[in-house]
Amino acid sequence: MAEDRYVIPPAPQAAIAVQGTSKLFPVRRIWCVGRNYLEHIKEMGQDERAPPFFFAKPADAIVPDGGTVPYPPLTKDLHHEVELVVALKSGGRNISVNKANDCIYGYGVGIDLTRRDLQIASRDIKRPWEIGKAFDHSAPCGALRPAAEIGHPTKGKIMLRGNGKIRQEGDLAQMIWNVPECISKLSEMVALAAGDIIMTGTPSGVTPISVGDKLECEIEGVGKLTVTIGPPAK
Ligand code: MN
Repeated sequence: MAEDRYVIPPAPQAAIAVQGTSKLFPVRRIWCVGRNYLEHIKEMGQDERAPPFFFAKPADAIVPDGGTVPYPPLTKDLHHEVELVVALKSGGRNISVNKANDCIYGYGVGIDLTRRDLQIASRDIKRPWEIGKAFDHSAPCGALRPAAEIGHPTKGKIMLRGNGKIRQEGDLAQMIWNVPECISKLSEMVALAAGDIIMTGTPSGVTPISVGDKLECEIEGVGKLTVTIGPPAK
């Protein structure tokens, strides 16, 4: 019996729904692009000319559409970052920009939830970002749409409403490094593989979130995502 091979039960497979089907996309790793929209770089007070960089979240940080995110511990400044999510069906090393789209299964709408106070504190003392970025429930992600159905979006409105009010609004065309360039660059650093997803950076307008807030995100031509911020987990 396969289960007898493990000394403890293996963790459940993290997954994202595929829109309009009963199928799931199994998530291997979550990569995130830092600083990929000019207006967000400006609001964070960073160098506009520096190339984007990558950080990661655990696969089990995924929260599905309609889910509730318990307000995370240790922060007084939880922020939303609405982002285009790219889901890979294949990977490799040193993927060229013109082959990168061939690796893409589909796209979704995600939120890179950020404990901004902890992220900035880590940044300032040159420590890693995990405590600010890679916490439990930090990666809400709506249902994926296959590229075979929607193509490869390069423009279209990306927005987030908090309690009905627009907080973030931008356009995919404002990305400094486009999706194929992000895939190509990341594949120089690690071997990408099927199941990896990439959160591709956020437009400006990031703001603090409170318990009870309803976050509604939409990317034109891609889809929607709604999550609610709940009380802290006990
Ligand atoms: Mn982000």
